[in-house]
Amino acid sequence: MTSDIMEKDILLNHATEAWNACLEIIKNKVTEKGFDTWFLPVRPLALENDVLRLLLPNQACYEQLEGHYVDILAEALTTVIGENAQLEYQISQKISMDSTPAKQEPVKPFIRQTFDSNLNEEYTFDNFVEGDCNRMSKAAAISIAERPGIVYNPLLVFGDVGLGKTHLVQAIGNHVKAKYPEKNVYYISSEKFIGQFVDAIRENAVQNFNKFYQQIDVLIVDDVQFFSGKEKTQENFFHIFNGLYINKKAIILTSDCPPKDLKGLEERLVSRFSSGLTVDVQLPDYETRLAILERKIAVGNDVVPSEVLQYIAQNVATNIRELEGCLVSLLARSSLEKRTIDLALAKEVLTNIMRNKPKEASIETIQIVVAQHFDLSIDDLNGSSRKKDIALARQVAMYLCKKLTQNSYKIIGNKFGNRDHSTVVHAFQTIDNLLKNDKKLKETLSLIEFQIGQK
Ligand code: ADP
Ligand code: MG
Repeated sequence: MTSDIMEKDILLNHATEAWNACLEIIKNKVTEKGFDTWFLPVRPLALENDVLRLLLPNQACYEQLEGHYVDILAEALTTVIGENAQLEYQISQKISMDSTPAKQEPVKPFIRQTFDSNLNEEYTFDNFVEGDCNRMSKAAAISIAERPGIVYNPLLVFGDVGLGKTHLVQAIGNHVKAKYPEKNVYYISSEKFIGQFVDAIRENAVQNFNKFYQQIDVLIVDDVQFFSGKEKTQENFFHIFNGLYINKKAIILTSDCPPKDLKGLEERLVSRFSSGLTVDVQLPDYETRLAILERKIAVGNDVVPSEVLQYIAQNVATNIRELEGCLVSLLARSSLEKRTIDLALAKEVLTNIMRNKPKEASIETIQIVVAQHFDLSIDDLNGSSRKKDIALARQVAMYLCKKLTQNSYKIIGNKFGNRDHSTVVHAFQTIDNLLKNDKKLKETLSLIEFQIGQK
């Protein structure tokens, strides 16, 4: 990590030095106004292997530099960096949305333009450990990465938090970028998408927003469940989706539940989402958890005895993010306190992590408190009565179980008289909606939550 950051700093320092030297040359060759408008706002990002990467504030700046100033720029770069100097442009994302989409073809071979994909390069197929829990998903992801837009379109990957959805879909993006550098890959979380769309409405730029999305070859939208209840966003996304789909562009989505449980999403959108291939990622078994830990260790120089890895794999069975977290804590403790990594240290670290975890309420506690509050019995809550007050109490209890515990909809459903998980999803959505306007219910819930916290 630290060496990565240091390396980035060095690249940035080189870039700043080189760019400042270029500016000194350019200053004497262009008008003051041109210099202030088009050159001063440019930020150097990195200089590596004679390629200088620049961040431009907007598309207009790109067009000016490439259209009017390219020769002056080229000369300055050759003088400062050398004959092999190359330039890569990156256009600041927020602002590039306000203008025409970035062009793919460089006007001069001298200039290459990049498209900021929002991807984390560390998420690859190579370091995505395969097990029964994700074999299908990984195979589908690789097929798509090899032939984006042609096979399995759209792909929807679903599963609980921390099980590798983001890793897998970003691996598709990274693979496509490596194999097809000319393709525009774009990763975005649904929350960011909503934010961008709201900005676009405010700035009267929805048309440009949509144009931006239509130039994408591989669109990855993470956690689409957050589109729930956002009708305008959904409608707009529906059109973006259709445009891309018709043009055989790849669409890759993730969600925390299967499509049929995506409540608060328009039916036509859900049906589009599940019109291609739907796959899931599950909790890895012990062997896969161990393999994941071994893989993480193999990347660094740390030596961790296998009994320690086995111990962690055995005791951390919540999700992969937590599994990684334990390993990181273990390595940190050993390095800070200069202690050998052994079973004793691993036990200490794990106990510590467990102790510091905010105590999670159990489903049983929530049921007891809710039943008491509504003056009902546990059997009432878990039974099949549809009486209004009982049904409401049941939905409140389910809502709180989802909100306050890590349990899946399925497990919660089981604990409420073996109900289907879709009943829990529905209860959650219902209460969530009611809470938007019902002040009294809001107060009731906060009182119950307080009482749960006291238990
Ligand atoms: P999700 O998006 O499903 O919440 P993430 O993709 O963020 O989960 O995964 C959580 C962490 O676990 C990430 O650091 C990721 O690299 C790691 N991880 C998940 N699945 C695997 C796997 N199969 N092999 C290696 N690392 C994994
Ligand atoms: Mg994720």
